[in-house]
Amino acid sequence: MAKDKVSAEWGELLFDDADMQERLPKPTYKKLRRVIEDGEPLDLDIANEVAHAMKEWALEKGATHFTHWFQPLTGITSEKHDSFLTPKGDGTVLMAFSGKELVQGEPDASSFPSGGLRATFEARGYTVWDPTSPAFIKDEVLCIPTAFISYTGEALDKKTPLLRSEVALERQAKRVLKLFGQEPRRVVTTIGPEQEYFLIKESDYEARPDLILCGRTLFGAAPAKGQELDEHYFGAIRPTVNEFMKELDDELWKLGIPAKTKHNEVAPCQHELAPVFETGSLAIDDNLLTMEKMKLLASHHGLVCLQHEKPFEYVNGSGKHNNWSISADGKNLLEPGPDPEHNLRFIVFLAALVSAVDEHADLLRMSVASAGNDHRLGANEAPPAIISIFLGDNLSPVVEALIRKEHAEAQEVTLMDLGVPALPEIIRDNTDRNRTSPFAFTGNKFEFRMPGSRQNLGDPNVILNLAVAEQCDRFVTYVENHPDEDFRIVAMRWARHTFRDHHRVLFNGNGYSDDWEVEAERRGLPNLKSTPDALPALIDPENVKLFEKYGVLTEAELHARYVSKAEQYAKLLNIEANCMVDMARRLYIPAISAYTGDLATAVAAKAELGVVSETEKSLITTLTNGIDAVWKLTADLDDRNSTAREITDPTDQDNYYRDEVIPAMDALRSAVDSLEPLVGEDWWPVPTYNSILYYV
Ligand code: ADP
Ligand code: MG
Repeated sequence: MAKDKVSAEWGELLFDDADMQERLPKPTYKKLRRVIEDGEPLDLDIANEVAHAMKEWALEKGATHFTHWFQPLTGITSEKHDSFLTPKGDGTVLMAFSGKELVQGEPDASSFPSGGLRATFEARGYTVWDPTSPAFIKDEVLCIPTAFISYTGEALDKKTPLLRSEVALERQAKRVLKLFGQEPRRVVTTIGPEQEYFLIKESDYEARPDLILCGRTLFGAAPAKGQELDEHYFGAIRPTVNEFMKELDDELWKLGIPAKTKHNEVAPCQHELAPVFETGSLAIDDNLLTMEKMKLLASHHGLVCLQHEKPFEYVNGSGKHNNWSISADGKNLLEPGPDPEHNLRFIVFLAALVSAVDEHADLLRMSVASAGNDHRLGANEAPPAIISIFLGDNLSPVVEALIRKEHAEAQEVTLMDLGVPALPEIIRDNTDRNRTSPFAFTGNKFEFRMPGSRQNLGDPNVILNLAVAEQCDRFVTYVENHPDEDFRIVAMRWARHTFRDHHRVLFNGNGYSDDWEVEAERRGLPNLKSTPDALPALIDPENVKLFEKYGVLTEAELHARYVSKAEQYAKLLNIEANCMVDMARRLYIPAISAYTGDLATAVAAKAELGVVSETEKSLITTLTNGIDAVWKLTADLDDRNSTAREITDPTDQDNYYRDEVIPAMDALRSAVDSLEPLVGEDWWPVPTYNSILYYV
């Protein structure tokens, strides 16, 4: 039977399990599976055989080069292409690829951000194959997913700590499950990243230096129409956009990326793609690849894909919802089960998650902090900077009842008496969603809604995995400290106390309301509004201990990450400030000046004929004063940015950017924006919101 289009394309460019099975000798395949599934060490003989099979496969698909594909601290992916070509010396060439080239690479990595780590340790870093993420072909290049570490083993990338956190969580979760009499082979996390993005016309993009340099508009008066009519969300997809989406789906399916849902989002020009969830780091690799493909393929359709967290003022920015769960041999542990035994396990994992999020709200907030995301968090469109958990109308009463039911701890009782609730099946089909909650239970998974569209999801998942691992560990310790009691009684008590102690983080109300900010403060929940407020959590001594205890990051690595994130914030704002100064001086002022000049010429000509317009004269005065104001504000921004650049301590520098430079940027923007509606369209030097956001 002929295959349907999708099945035929599926995974064509992915060196997947079927390819390995087909191309590797059976014993080699089996050993490789053990490396992939059980983390067994890989010996060079196996690597050589795998490399050979991979190369043959890649050559058949037209590949000419290979690369180690990795995720430095910039968060985006990096690659350096090497061809398979090896001259034989007799004028002919051989296409070669060795096991050593597969497992280890040495990019000249001196230019990647390391937060000072490489200076402290070893200058060079190297990439190591991550066999859990299959190789793929992209534009005739065989891409090998890798981790990037220093010669002395320090993590220099986003993937290494993620893999370490997955190990920590698996280890602790297995200990918990063992108490329930379960010994799964693997415990993994599952992640479904919903990716939001904007698509605009390439011609508009090319005409705006701010979009080109910063990925967002730094100026722009409010459009006549925003998103108030709610007509874009789930609206019919424009043909150009649909063509793009179809090509994107095809390309992603070929790479074995399970793209599933696509629709228009709330803001004009905004769209979303959601894949079917996959296991931890693989889901993140695939998300990065998806983002890359989006950018590349948009150009085939005369479009540009903007992945910035806030490309346009006045309409929503873009997030990336991190749907997260934990799964034991394919069984979702956040899914309430058919019987009380299952439900007890569910309750324990739920409690672990609630306490993990409450105790480490600062770290979770840190993990999504960036200059771009600061425009989203706290604005009325994205979850606030305060972390709270939404359990919904079905689960909340269950948890509240549990907390109250202190007495049911007698011996010899049934699980029902213990307060293990008969969780209604409807919890799984939980449809009442609270879009304003940063961390929402959605039936069988949690959805962390704070991450920005552009970010690598490694960071927030490291925190989730680590924080939940710690709680699992605590649960096991608690049970071990009560050896004489029935396990179920002890487990239930732990869950009850945990919910009670972390009750403050549970909130089902409107996260966007001002009342919540006041209430959250009363509850003692942190409200870290800006990136400079949020980043220090990474080097808080208590947090350092936590990372070190579970082997996720060392103090030196954490420091390096802090420096790197702090520098990133300052560098980004420096670029934005420079860009604003440049646009104001070389685009806006000349344009406003030209318009004012033309107006003045016309007024003078009319005056000669005896026609005097007071309106025009007053407009000339307004524009002239406006130009003066813009000049002054530009000089002020330029000065403050120069001062900021001189500050050497990264923390001081970030604070200065937040307190002194950003207000100057805001002031300049609003001065220019207020003149935009007064200047003739033919004189205005860049496309306006009205034309960028609404096109056919
Ligand atoms: P929404 O209404 O938020 O768009 P969807 O039902 O479309 O919700 O699911 C959103 C994402 O959640 C999808 O990427 C989906 O694959 C993912 N998801 C579903 N179940 C799980 C799970 N157990 N673990 C992680 N992600 C999941
Ligand atoms: Mg969602």
